[in-house]
Amino acid sequence: MSFAELGLSPLILRAVEELGYREPTPIQRQAIPVVLAGGDILAAAQTGTGKTAAFTLPVLTRLMGYANSSASPAMHPVRVLVLTPTRELADQVADSVRQYSQHSQLRYAVLFGGVSIDPQKEQLRRGIEIVVATPGRLLDHVEQKTIQLNRVEILVMDEADRMLDMGFLPDIRRILTLLPKTRQTLLFSATFSPEIKKLAAEFMKEPQLIEVARQNATNAKIEQTIYAVDSHRKRALLVRLLQQRDMSQVIVFCRTKQGADQLTRELKRENISVAAIHGDKAQQARIETLAAFKAGEVRVLVATDVAARGLDISDLPFVINFELPKAPEDYVHRIGRTGRAGSSGVAISLMAEDEQKALANIEKLTRQTLKPEMMTGFWPSWMEHPKPPPSTFHQAFVTPARPSPLAHLMSGKAWRHPLSQAQREIPALLMPPRYNKH
Ligand code: AMP
Repeated sequence: MSFAELGLSPLILRAVEELGYREPTPIQRQAIPVVLAGGDILAAAQTGTGKTAAFTLPVLTRLMGYANSSASPAMHPVRVLVLTPTRELADQVADSVRQYSQHSQLRYAVLFGGVSIDPQKEQLRRGIEIVVATPGRLLDHVEQKTIQLNRVEILVMDEADRMLDMGFLPDIRRILTLLPKTRQTLLFSATFSPEIKKLAAEFMKEPQLIEVARQNATNAKIEQTIYAVDSHRKRALLVRLLQQRDMSQVIVFCRTKQGADQLTRELKRENISVAAIHGDKAQQARIETLAAFKAGEVRVLVATDVAARGLDISDLPFVINFELPKAPEDYVHRIGRTGRAGSSGVAISLMAEDEQKALANIEKLTRQTLKPEMMTGFWPSWMEHPKPPPSTFHQAFVTPARPSPLAHLMSGKAWRHPLSQAQREIPALLMPPRYNKH
């Protein structure tokens, strides 16, 4: 099936073509016709499946009739509201809207906190059809009366489960009361928790259920490796992996902001090009760090779960879990940064003794067995070491039952020493000291 068969506007199709998308992804094939027909959808799809285009392309097509070049703000009321849990995701969704709508006259804005509100006010004053926002900053604008939501026709809740995890439910409820009752609602969530189902039952009209991959299933194209290691040796193992696998762009996940900062300092000391991204960083710094990473100026991006949720960095070949996440769902989200939209990827996790329970939870959730491996030189102290192979000395002098030269002679075959050259050389350490001089 091609994009053209889905019924999208020609101007939107042109943008899609220019981006080099050849065919719609499964979520796009399923969601686009329903959204174009005006239906509500409840979609279980993770980042990396093409979900942003799955809602943005049909939403833009539905708005095309409103596109106009009038300078009057009244001609550009807010008709679409996209809510996202994090600033980064808002930024990325807005970037997709920018790309897909580039040949139309539709206007969009992105609203999130941590940056000055004034430029956002100025944009809203001129009139905007599509607003992408985090709930908190959107409500700041509502309070300051710089935004009107009573003409909204389509509401999109992206990563709704994360918004609930982050405690945005009261804000979402408040925003929902400000929107017209007759509207289209599209809810995207990585998982369908009972809370999500409740929200959907309350605010949606017979939503069509769309599930593209098994719930919590990890992407089959991602190669997953778990290394068992002592926690104090994780950094050295990480450095070894960076070198050995020649990783030029990798996200390394830590559980805490403090852990992320410490690892970043330590890697810097090893002269590795590294930057951290987490909730304590100023918004501007986060945007700049992400841009530098995307541009290939920063090799290692150390991130926490909240900061990394929804980051769209295409073709990221490697993801490393420096620590396994406490919540197994986060493992799925983390490794979803690699192997995106059909490309393959590698996810490596470093597991210390006290993280074995976390691994068991991940295995249960993703319904797979992840057998820990050991890296040479990093054998964990909490795992029994297998018996070392017999030494050369042992093989040369202790192993009995070798065919004698005489027996060979009698058999008529050419005699070859049964030991290899290496085995015949007596290890230097076994020589008396006087032979050891040269
Ligand atoms: P998302 O799941 O929305 O975060 O999208 C993941 C990545 O896939 C983004 O970088 C998109 O640009 C890309 N993408 C989305 N749809 C397609 C498609 N049909 N073909 C190729 N790439 C796509």
